[in-house]
Amino acid sequence: MSQAQDGAQAQDGARLLIVGPQGSGKGTQGVRIAEVVGVPAISTGDMFRAAISGGTELGEKVKAIIEAGDLVPDAVTSEVVSERLSQDDAAEGFLLDGYPRNLAQVSDLDAFLSGRGEQLDAVIELSVPRGESIDRLTRRAFEQGRTDDTEDVIANRLAIYERETAPILDVYRERGIVDVIDGVGSLDEITERIVAALGARGLIRTAAA
Ligand code: ADP
Repeated sequence: MSQAQDGAQAQDGARLLIVGPQGSGKGTQGVRIAEVVGVPAISTGDMFRAAISGGTELGEKVKAIIEAGDLVPDAVTSEVVSERLSQDDAAEGFLLDGYPRNLAQVSDLDAFLSGRGEQLDAVIELSVPRGESIDRLTRRAFEQGRTDDTEDVIANRLAIYERETAPILDVYRERGIVDVIDGVGSLDEITERIVAALGARGLIRTAAA
């Protein structure tokens, strides 16, 4: 396939991040929004799970950590992400899901992007009450059987979110790039809210604003 310019379509893709607690629906919305914007959705959790099921060296390294709901070491994660962002399809934009997840990773991402003369354009914060996200996780555990969706591991992941991930939002808030989106509603309603917020930043062309 030639990767010739497909002209008018995407003038300059957006560089986006979606953040939200476990069970907020960020994975689902991330994929939808990436499609609307025309950029790849890059989920560190998905990449790690693929490595584990593919039995790769990376998979071997992260398996036990993920099953315990702990964070994979920053150096490992940041390298996986910078390699992924260096692929051609992410040259004009991307949507990151699950990275950065702590302040050290924010610095790693800043360093990587500024080396390319880039920066994040918007951070979507999906806001969901704790009770609702726990209900959704319990349902997902039942439906998908993810090995890190057991009660103890869920509690550990939520605690890490509060302690390590929530603070990254303050950094991005200071930069004025955070949009807080109400994550309760139908999938389509939530997607529309995000699309409207990105549209207001001029990052998406909305048909009817
Ligand atoms: P969730 O948001 O429900 O925890 P993810 O698919 O985003 O699900 O992540 C699953 C697991 O993958 C995490 O619990 C963690 O072990 C690992 N992981 C994902 N992203 C990162 C990251 N940025 N840094 C460290 N570990 C990560």
